[in-house]
Amino acid sequence: MLKKCAWETYSEKDLKKLEKLCKEYREFLDNGKTERECVDEIVNTIEAEGYQEMETVIKNGGKLKAGDKVYSVWMNKSVVMFQVGKKPLAEGINILGAHIDSPRLDVKQVPLYEDGCHAFAYLDTHYYGGVKKYQWVTLPLAIHGVVVKKDGTTVELNLGEEEDDPVFFISDLLIHLAGEQLEKKAAKVIEGEALDLIVGSKPITIEKEDGKAKEEKSAKDAIKAGVLDILKKTYDFDEDDFLSAELEIVPAGKAREAGFDRSMILGYGQDDRVCAFTSMRAMLDVKNLDRTLCCILVDKEEIGSVGATGMQSAFFENAVAELMNLTGEYSELNVRRCLARSCMLSSDVSAGYDPSYDSCFEKKNAAWIGGGMCFNKFTGARGKSGSNDANAEYIAHIRKIFDDKKIVWQTAELGKVDVGGGGTIAYILALYGMNVIDSGVAVLNMHAPWEATSKADIYEAYRGYKAFAEDACM
Ligand code: MN
Ligand code: MN
Repeated sequence: MLKKCAWETYSEKDLKKLEKLCKEYREFLDNGKTERECVDEIVNTIEAEGYQEMETVIKNGGKLKAGDKVYSVWMNKSVVMFQVGKKPLAEGINILGAHIDSPRLDVKQVPLYEDGCHAFAYLDTHYYGGVKKYQWVTLPLAIHGVVVKKDGTTVELNLGEEEDDPVFFISDLLIHLAGEQLEKKAAKVIEGEALDLIVGSKPITIEKEDGKAKEEKSAKDAIKAGVLDILKKTYDFDEDDFLSAELEIVPAGKAREAGFDRSMILGYGQDDRVCAFTSMRAMLDVKNLDRTLCCILVDKEEIGSVGATGMQSAFFENAVAELMNLTGEYSELNVRRCLARSCMLSSDVSAGYDPSYDSCFEKKNAAWIGGGMCFNKFTGARGKSGSNDANAEYIAHIRKIFDDKKIVWQTAELGKVDVGGGGTIAYILALYGMNVIDSGVAVLNMHAPWEATSKADIYEAYRGYKAFAEDACM
């Protein structure tokens, strides 16, 4: 079975649509570098297309009917949206799911310190998700996130993205002195506690121009004091406020087109915002649906889908119950029926075949960059451990839909048997007894600060989600 190259299937008109979609995608990546920013961006986008907040409909005693569009946000980090179809919800709905958290460095709760020799002020970090730590040194980094003060006010930070913003960085040892360091295993070359962000180097006393620099300040922690002084003046928060902050350190800069032919996108956080964006966009571009369509974009996948905003939270099930209440269909049994009879594309990025690391892939069953949308019958590790294993009957149903609409797609497995593995949110939705399959877009250097995707795969994923939204019913 030959893998298809999606690029070879396009007309001039297709290419125009592809470029338009990918430009919008890059903007999505630039505007959403954290799960909170993604939720804001998604809400702004869908509200402009007629989606209303479900809580508002409930409060106003409203009802929903076919064609209506609602969304619900959970703790500013996860969002679920619904487009009500003509059929009863209890017959099942179609669900597009993806995650919007990405690997990064989180700022610790007590982060700010000055080193013993009064050279630098640092923010101490704790990495989130699977990262190769050595990839995060000597890069321009940005700080995104929130500081919530005791009075309940929230300070939003987004520093390092504009051309005249300062950036931050983590140092690495110069090659001239790195003989011993380079003998270490890659996992130990840069250790977790060494990922401390340099955030300043100028003692506060230098700023005082009245010639009366106070001696007690010049001795200890003057650089740290200088940073705190700036934080107070610019953002009006104190050192203690880091205790209730969520600050994420991410690569600074915008997503870019890659290659002479501009066929790829290099950007931070494409795992899994590439599937989140295309799922959302597909949902906005379909209408008059028979089955209700749901798109759920969740937090915490990278650390096991835990917590109130992860896929394991009751948030999703509650939202379905509320939706059924608004359409006049609610009963405990109907909620169960709806979930059990639903079809889902659980989307996450797949490992793109990388010729430079050929020995880690089994070519026949690897995802090819440019080979179209991916389907993984199973994920997991070793003997498929921890996987959702999609049913053959469901896969046949999906094959028919995709082939009928001429979507370029491929099946994929994450690397060679026993080389590694990975999980997704698929198995969690499958607990309801619904049909779920892992799908998505192939990525090169997944979880690196800059990940690469093919524009063709992004376009096919978008087309695929639309086809699924319109035709899936099992
Ligand atoms: Mn992922
Ligand atoms: Mn991941």
